[in-house]
Amino acid sequence: MSIAIVDIEQVTHTCPAFPGPHPFDIRRTLVDVIPGGPCRTPVTIRCGEQTTTIPCRRHEPAKRQCGACRVIVTERTITTRHLTEVGG
Ligand SMILES: [Zn+2]
Ligand SMILES: [Zn+2]
Repeated sequence: MSIAIVDIEQVTHTCPAFPGPHPFDIRRTLVDVIPGGPCRTPVTIRCGEQTTTIPCRRHEPAKRQCGACRVIVTERTITTRHLTEVGG
């Protein structure tokens, strides 16, 4: 399987509706992708007289992709920042 490594930065704040700190902005940064290797169940599609073979990841929804194409997202770091209300 392919592994995508992401860093997550979430910003929390408090607001009148929800006095407890809660995340209101989450950013994901893609750090690295470790490819899972060649597709194990390539899909052959016909285009007119020609046929081409494409990896299943480009054709099937994630659930039906083969083990090599499926992407697992790993959260490497999660940084939480608290935004202090200004002038509240
Ligand atoms: Zn809020
Ligand atoms: Zn595949």
